[in-house]
Amino acid sequence: MAVLQKYLFRFGIITTLCFSVISGCADTDTTDEQNETTTDETKPPENEQNNETAETAATVKIPEQNVMSTLWHQTSGERNALYYQGYYISKMMLDQKLTENTEKKRAVVLDLDETVLDNDPYQAYAAVNGVEYPEGWDQWIEAANAPLLPGALEFLKYADEQGVDIYYISNRKEEQREATIKNMELHGLPQSTDDRVLLKTEESSKKARRDQVLTDHEIILLLGDNLADFADVFDKQNVPERKQSVDELKDEFGSTFIVFPNPMYGDWEGAVYEYNWDLTPEEKDAKRKEAMEPFEPAS
Ligand SMILES: [Mg+2]
Repeated sequence: MAVLQKYLFRFGIITTLCFSVISGCADTDTTDEQNETTTDETKPPENEQNNETAETAATVKIPEQNVMSTLWHQTSGERNALYYQGYYISKMMLDQKLTENTEKKRAVVLDLDETVLDNDPYQAYAAVNGVEYPEGWDQWIEAANAPLLPGALEFLKYADEQGVDIYYISNRKEEQREATIKNMELHGLPQSTDDRVLLKTEESSKKARRDQVLTDHEIILLLGDNLADFADVFDKQNVPERKQSVDELKDEFGSTFIVFPNPMYGDWEGAVYEYNWDLTPEEKDAKRKEAMEPFEPAS
């Protein structure tokens, strides 16, 4: 337990630091709404802009706001350490749960993006070139060349060797199934077959797909970078509700739920917008700043 407490403490510090210095970007994983948002749709026609709006638009560059989060993700040793830490705890908890009796077959459920597969090259492309998701995202997926995150392969091979069923529940689209499995096979990820890769069909919520696994399995571990990867209580919750639910489920984190850091995008950003992904860049920028709680120096 001491190890878990240390992990949670450290994770809290690192993610708090990340979130305090960066603003988020597009969610590539969890929302239908944002998938439908295009850069063109977020900008008013030029002839409708007054001088003040044009001046504001020139100063709000949403992709650039993701430079720090993506830089951290691509360059920091701390990111790698957190993934190793998360997968180490996953193995430790897997070993413990293998000693406990279960009525059904054991399953481990993992998200894919920013849990197993590393899409920060796409995020870097977007930040450096000033483009917003989903521009370029399909090409990135089709390239089927996303690297693995540290510790993932070793953990998955170990779980496979222990006879545990592995399910990958991802909000990538069905049209991306072939490229996704090709990418998984490139790295030799175990059990990366059609019946184990459950992609988004009609809804972003992963509840129905978890329930499908639960019909003949006991899910002993869930791994993800987004709270909605763990339980449907988190679906579409606002900022305080998300924190309240995390408090209520605190005993699950580090035992059944293993969280990885993603300061680049996620429902945490959607919650800041009340999940209205169609906001203009200026509105998003305003929501981001309104949601912050700055220190006020004494005068
Ligand atoms: Mg993810």
